Amino acid sequence: MPPPRPELLRHPLPGDLHRSPVEPGSGWPEDPAEPGTRVARTPAGVVRSAAASRTTEQLDARVSVCRACPRLVAWREEVAATGRRAYRDQPYWGRPISGWGDAHAPLLVVGLAPAAHGGNRTGRVFTGDRSGDWIFAALHRAGLAAQERSDHAGDGQHLTGVRIAAAVRCAPPDNLPTPDERAACAPWLDREVQLVRPRVLLALGGIAWDASLACARRLGWAVPRPAPRFGHGARAVLALPGQDGGGAVHLVGSYHVSQQNTSTGRLTEAMLDDAVALAAALAGLPGAGAPGPRG
Ligand code: SF4
Repeated sequence: MPPPRPELLRHPLPGDLHRSPVEPGSGWPEDPAEPGTRVARTPAGVVRSAAASRTTEQLDARVSVCRACPRLVAWREEVAATGRRAYRDQPYWGRPISGWGDAHAPLLVVGLAPAAHGGNRTGRVFTGDRSGDWIFAALHRAGLAAQERSDHAGDGQHLTGVRIAAAVRCAPPDNLPTPDERAACAPWLDREVQLVRPRVLLALGGIAWDASLACARRLGWAVPRPAPRFGHGARAVLALPGQDGGGAVHLVGSYHVSQQNTSTGRLTEAMLDDAVALAAALAGLPGAGAPGPRG
C-alpha cells in the first residue's frame, strides 16, 4: 500500500474538498445520507434498520453508512485512505454503495459487490471501472440509461425504469466477501426488493443469481425446486402473479461484466444486449428489445 494521501482532496466534478472516506452529508454528489442517519453496527442492527426503512430513499441513506462488517469497513476505509496511483488526487467515497436508479424500477440489476477503486471511489454502483462501463453502455444501447458512461456521481447519468444494486454493499478484499458478510448484508437487498417492487431481477453472475434466489426465498416467494441453475440467458419465475401484490417476478441471468469475462470474449456486447433486452421485455419497459448501435 502507498502512504496515506492529503486529508482533503477535490471531487473531480464539483471540485469540493472531501475527506476519504467521505463524511455523510458533507456535499458529495448524490450522497443519500445526512450526519444523523441511523448507523447499523452489527448484523442484527442491519436486520432492524432495513426492516424499519419505509422508503427506498431512507433505505439508501442507511445502507450508505452501515458499519456491520468489521473486515469490510476496515478494508474499504484503508483503500479510501491510500487510493490507487491513478486516483491519488481524488477523494474516495469509502462507504457502502446503495442501490442506484429509479426508486420504483420494474427492472433491478443485481451485481456482486463494489470494486475497491470503482464504486468505493466514486460512491455510485458500477461507476468508475471497466465492469461498469459495460453494463451502463448496454443499458444506454437499450434506451434505459441517459449516457453511455458512468464515471462519477453527479455526472448527469440517469436510469429510466432500472435500478442497480449489489448483493454485498462494501468492496471486499479480492472481490470475495465471506459467507458471513453476505448473510449480514442480505437484509438490505431484501428490503430494497420489497420497497422497489421490481418485476424482473437481472443477475450478473452466479453469485448474484444465488443471492437473488435466496432473497426470493426469504421473502416467501415461490422459488422452484430444485433451484434454477445459473447460465447466460437463463430465466426463472421467482414469484407467482399476486404473490407480492403484483404480477409474476422473473429472474434473468447474465455472465458477469467482469474484465475476466469481457476481455476473454466469454461475454460479448451482443450477449449482454440480449440479456438486457430479455429482462427489459419481461419488465414491460417501453422500447425493450431493440438495442442501439454498439461502440
Ligand atoms: S457489507 Fe453490507 S452489512 Fe457489511 S458493512 Fe457493508 S453494507 Fe453493512
